[in-house]
Amino acid sequence: MFTDAHCHLSFPEFDNDRAEVIDRMRKSNVSLLIDPGIDIDTSRRSIELSRAHDFIYSTVGLHPHETRHDVSDETFGALEKLADSPEVVGIGEIGLDYHYEPVFAETQQRAFREMLRLAAALDLPAVIHSRDAWDDTLKILKEEKTSNLRGIMHCFSGDIALAEECIRLGFSISVPGTVTYRKSSLPDVVQAIDIEHLLTETDAPYLSPVPFRGKRNEPANVCIVTEHIAGIKGIAVEAAAVRISENTRRIFGLDD
Ligand SMILES: [Zn+2]
Ligand SMILES: [Zn+2]
Repeated sequence: MFTDAHCHLSFPEFDNDRAEVIDRMRKSNVSLLIDPGIDIDTSRRSIELSRAHDFIYSTVGLHPHETRHDVSDETFGALEKLADSPEVVGIGEIGLDYHYEPVFAETQQRAFREMLRLAAALDLPAVIHSRDAWDDTLKILKEEKTSNLRGIMHCFSGDIALAEECIRLGFSISVPGTVTYRKSSLPDVVQAIDIEHLLTETDAPYLSPVPFRGKRNEPANVCIVTEHIAGIKGIAVEAAAVRISENTRRIFGLDD
């Protein structure tokens, strides 16, 4: 019943014990997982993982960090081809990240636009990563707006006004384990936003929730995120989990 809407289970960090991680996830009632690629290689691995498990779905994309080695038409062509696989339910992760120096803003923006156009052409939702780059992210989303532009803001880190603007643009807010951190402003966002626009994710192997901070994160921990959301909303954990699962299925066009 729990949903991990963004988890890099196909990353090498899980190569030694992926079966055990999946086992713990299933025992914790995590019944739906979306595994995003960040380049050609990880997108391919994500599709393979999805092929092996009917509760795992794949998205393919080019992460802003991966655009630092110049981005070629061959790369876009290969991703477009991968996006054709039946396991692929979205384009991502894509976006802008100006956190680390030096920032390759222009290359990132070119790749972001290219990938948004692919999402629109294939009528798929986009999985967006935006860090320290909200102004440009929103500017590009508005410029590239099509009638079918939609998706999720993964690992959302903004305030209430920003969340509302993303929702107006057709994007839902995906809440990671940072909602459990003491200084996080995410609880305010969760409280203000209707649950129909909320998703849960781990972004594993990164961003472990309290009390696992600093350790490798894993999909079973998405239950902790869901419990926090239920607590903030004042509803039962199961009710929150069901609503969030429905949201995820609706956005990614999954059958029940
Ligand atoms: Zn990300
Ligand atoms: Zn990610």
